[in-house]
Amino acid sequence: MADHRRQFRAIKGTRDILPPDSALWNWFEQTARDLFESYNFRDIRTPAFEDTNLFARSVGEETDIVHKEMYSIGDSLSSNLSFARWMLSKSHETSVRTHDIQPFWKSVDSFLRACDEAFASEEIGRKGDDDVQCFEKIKAIRSEAGNDPENTEDAAREILSLANTIGLHGLMSLRPEATASVARAYIENGMQTLPGNVKLYYIGPMFRRERPQKGRYRQFYQIGAEVLGQSDAPAIDAEVLEMLVVFFKRVGLTRTTLYVNSIGCKECRPKYVEVLREKLREVKDQLGPDSQRRIDTNPLRVLDSKLPEEQAIIAKLPRISDHLCAECREHFAKLKEELNMRGIAYEENWRLVRGLDYYTRTTFEVTAEGLGSQNAVCGGGRYDGLVELLGGPPTKGIGFAIGSDRAILSIQEGGTLPHLSGLAVFVAWMGQAAYPTAVHITRKLREAGLAVELPAEEMKFKKSLGLADKLGARYALIIGEDEVAAGTFTLKRLADSEQKKLSEYELLEYLESERRGRG
Ligand code: AMP
Repeated sequence: MADHRRQFRAIKGTRDILPPDSALWNWFEQTARDLFESYNFRDIRTPAFEDTNLFARSVGEETDIVHKEMYSIGDSLSSNLSFARWMLSKSHETSVRTHDIQPFWKSVDSFLRACDEAFASEEIGRKGDDDVQCFEKIKAIRSEAGNDPENTEDAAREILSLANTIGLHGLMSLRPEATASVARAYIENGMQTLPGNVKLYYIGPMFRRERPQKGRYRQFYQIGAEVLGQSDAPAIDAEVLEMLVVFFKRVGLTRTTLYVNSIGCKECRPKYVEVLREKLREVKDQLGPDSQRRIDTNPLRVLDSKLPEEQAIIAKLPRISDHLCAECREHFAKLKEELNMRGIAYEENWRLVRGLDYYTRTTFEVTAEGLGSQNAVCGGGRYDGLVELLGGPPTKGIGFAIGSDRAILSIQEGGTLPHLSGLAVFVAWMGQAAYPTAVHITRKLREAGLAVELPAEEMKFKKSLGLADKLGARYALIIGEDEVAAGTFTLKRLADSEQKKLSEYELLEYLESERRGRG
């Protein structure tokens, strides 16, 4: 026999969530909805794909997410231009490593030639002048930097970031996260005019081209919440964290740890980053190639390193807590006071910087047990500048995203599984005379909120009861000719085979009270 299962398979990094697991997922998501709404958060549904620039601008062009992991569609760029852009970043990496900038300049020239051709064929530059402006800027930087070898490193970085935006107009990407979308929707719909803080939550799939492994998928699911508005009071951060902690408790994920940190604001963070960069340059030779590269591109990310040989060096690096400005220090101190007052256990982790560019001040992460290396089940933080960065009014913001795949995995591997009611009644009817009664009572039981299975075709009782058992029904409702004649039903509890003869009224009463008892 042909194996039909082999012809089409779910794409690598995606998977089906099947029953009975899907019931656990629904319960998990419904628990979030109920809890978040009790904190006065409201559901927001944004599109699964957005303008690529939205993510480039908010998440950050230097991040792995934007650089390597987004699924982009509608990219009409010729392979020539795409290749020239790719060569640009490759030759930059080589130049940094070898301290020889010449190969980089060569690839800048090739890139400019590829742009020229793309303009000539009207492949780019038609939608507004952004592409042309970027192109002219790169040309100017190229000719200036050629005369001034001192500044080549900054010039190269600027060229890379400009080159990354050329041709991106009109390009769409599947969302790798949803905070940027929520901020976009907030601005587009003028939500700053709404009374009070705008408290939103979302549930849905996200997409990142990561290397699939346990707890890491290319389509994965997040439950997130965001508070946007005029206030950045630490009590808002504390309430968001309280909601998160209560959620994990409610879904039975008790073996979790909440880590908090403050990464400062746009005043104090850049100063700290410079101090860190200086120190990292001193120890550069002792670091691996990834961390070495990040000294230039994003020194904070070095603190994320999990390499065992780098840990002792990182432990001695300057810490952000010693470099926070007075306002940030006070904000963080107040947050910790609030957490203590609310009885929320947390650990401070000065290395928690989060990967995305838009975070300011409070950052946090929750880890859970039983997940191996992918043990973060939630990440979040404050992003006070994000709305403005996207062209909106000055707005404060804070939020988090829970990774449902991992959280559910952790519940399955050691948490407390909820009792999810499945099939309540299997209607075992036999004889054509019994069929109308079976149809009638099935509809009644379903109206009463019970899950009922009615076989479409007549079956022998023995087979019927066997199927009821296999389907995991709690009861079999037996309707044969005797029952029809007597106007009664026989209800058999499958766990212990106890049988009762009941009238329709008694049956409904009994099953409804049983359902209420199960919650
Ligand atoms: P992030 O914004 O990257 O910190 O993501 C927030 C949470 O989403 C993480 O703590 C993970 O639980 C989850 N997450 C992120 N990426 C993936 C992925 N590729 N597969 C499964 N879960 C993910």
